[in-house]
Amino acid sequence: MIVVLSKEATKEQLAHVVESVEAKGLKSHIIYGTDRTVVAAVGDKRDVDKGALENLPGVEKIVPILSPYKVASHEVKKENTVIRMGKDDPGFGSDTLSVIAGPCSIEDRSQMLDVAHACKECGARALRGGAFKPRTSPYSFQGLGEKGLQILAEAREATGLPIVTEVLTTADVPLVSSYADVLQIGARNMQNYMLLEAAGRQPKPVLLKRGMSATMEEFLLAAEYVINAGNKNVILCERGIRTFEEYCRNTQAISIVPAIHRVSHLPIIVDPTHGTGHAYMVESMSLAAAAIGADGLIIEVHPDPEHALTDAAQQINPEQFKKLMARLSRVAQAVDKNL
Ligand code: PEP
Ligand code: MN
Repeated sequence: MIVVLSKEATKEQLAHVVESVEAKGLKSHIIYGTDRTVVAAVGDKRDVDKGALENLPGVEKIVPILSPYKVASHEVKKENTVIRMGKDDPGFGSDTLSVIAGPCSIEDRSQMLDVAHACKECGARALRGGAFKPRTSPYSFQGLGEKGLQILAEAREATGLPIVTEVLTTADVPLVSSYADVLQIGARNMQNYMLLEAAGRQPKPVLLKRGMSATMEEFLLAAEYVINAGNKNVILCERGIRTFEEYCRNTQAISIVPAIHRVSHLPIIVDPTHGTGHAYMVESMSLAAAAIGADGLIIEVHPDPEHALTDAAQQINPEQFKKLMARLSRVAQAVDKNL
């Protein structure tokens, strides 16, 4: 349920509401809106006497939350959440369409540094690169681990761009969080609830990718795990779902963008690289994602895609990325966004 405070409610009254909510065994999330403050009380409400909360000083009314996802929903927070990757970042959910770019995997120092400079020149706002790779086959390249994180951190130093990288296990969360500006949780881990909670207990924003067969409701409930554990900064990412179709690696379901914007205050970005699996589709799908209102994009860019150690078919080279960004800026402008 949502405890709506009156406009005149004092700090002390807010603190008392939070205390009372928690005394009833519910979790409280304070949301400061432009107009008024609300407290989302989440948990098993079967034995909670609503009337007792309604009578507290400073409380205007109690409203039930109808959607299965609570703290991610617009019912709890009307304004969109803006999530910044660094201090100079306008943020996902703002009027800027931010692009994260970089290779699928960090392969070596010169590969990462070369492509990092190229991505920055083209207007990327953050760098990506996998150090821990979730590979379908145990015999494929698994990533450079901490060495890869060190290289990625060097690329941040060299370009000034924040870095986004995937964490695969709960045990690695402190390590990855100590390097990354944004922690990525991949499609294969979207329903790894222990990992979601561990990511929720560290301070960096979380880029949560949609599971290959996850419905929108399951996707938002996964975000809810992160938020409930204490981290409100969840960036959702549509990366294609698995269907019967074979001409593409995944089916890019960009209609989830307006659907998410309707029900949730969280920003949603699109990954046209994994969403299609083919380099030649990445530009078209990026333009489509921008046109439909995505808050950002994450794109794999490799200096030499043909020889990439992972995802060779779908990575674009810096020249292709440059052309994509030039066209993207025109689409962004058409939908009243900066790039
Ligand atoms: C990735 O971004 O490199 C990745 C493995 O993505 P996904 O989890 O969407 O497959
Ligand atoms: Mn990849």
